[in-house]
Amino acid sequence: MSNELLGKVALVTGASRGLGEGAARALATGGASVMLVARDGKLAADVAGSIAKGNGRAESCACDVSDFGAVQQVVAQTEANLGAIDILVNNAGVIEPIAELATSDPKVWADNISINLTGAYYVLRAVLPGMLARGGGTIVNISSGAAYRPLEGWSAYCSGKAGLAMLTRAVALETGGKGVRIFGFSPGTIDTDMQVKIRASGMNTISRIPRQDLSPVEHAVRGLIYLCTTDAEDLLGQDASMRDDAFRKRIGLA
Ligand code: NAP
Repeated sequence: MSNELLGKVALVTGASRGLGEGAARALATGGASVMLVARDGKLAADVAGSIAKGNGRAESCACDVSDFGAVQQVVAQTEANLGAIDILVNNAGVIEPIAELATSDPKVWADNISINLTGAYYVLRAVLPGMLARGGGTIVNISSGAAYRPLEGWSAYCSGKAGLAMLTRAVALETGGKGVRIFGFSPGTIDTDMQVKIRASGMNTISRIPRQDLSPVEHAVRGLIYLCTTDAEDLLGQDASMRDDAFRKRIGLA
């Protein structure tokens, strides 16, 4: 692992399980101090505690990214306790509602956008001014193949992730040349709780992928950590994808 993470401060949203947990653990292993955020503060605290037991530096906070006030508080807490934020992994996300639009629950549909798109914006909005003032920082927005490929039953998820992919590109224009590096990252179809919900739904082809054919979280974590290093400079402003053979080769996966 690159020593570029040593002494850095990272904020990881959706860090209580799945990709966010893997990212938080890897960042801490690389020497970063990590703030783990999820709505379920107990689960996030358990992961932070396990990182600390392994001699990593980690804290946690219960926070719903769709609440801007709560996001501002967690950013202030991170800066007070761990230091200025160098790395943001904007990972919190939900798949629900899994339903065709005509029968979807309007509140659950709107909540998806509030978390996956507006929530990601809220975290950027709270973190970016500090990064710009300091002239440095790395942001990874977690994207998805669904940002580019429509899937039946996932109209909210596809729309939110497509919006986030555009947000990455728009913010890259605003931060270019100011020391702040922003990437999107599409982790592939990975073996997490989100895929358990997808399989249970029986909706669209993704739900029919057998669990054994899903990629391990560790592979995606490797790609995500790569983006936090200077090796990834040429990918700025883009969605790097674990489905891209050239990217997999760069991170040492066949
Ligand atoms: P997961 O296992 O369901 O984990 C999601 C994480 O996000 C949990 O820690 C969850 O904790 C947190 N979260 C959800 N809503 C939140 C909110 N409002 N505020 C704060 N935290 C929140 O999902 P995953 O598969 O690891 O997904 C992580 C990211 O990768 C997501 O953005 C997802 O869209 C993306 N992705 C996943 C796949 C895949 O195949 N799994 C593929 C492409 C992209 P709480 O519920 O306690 O809040």
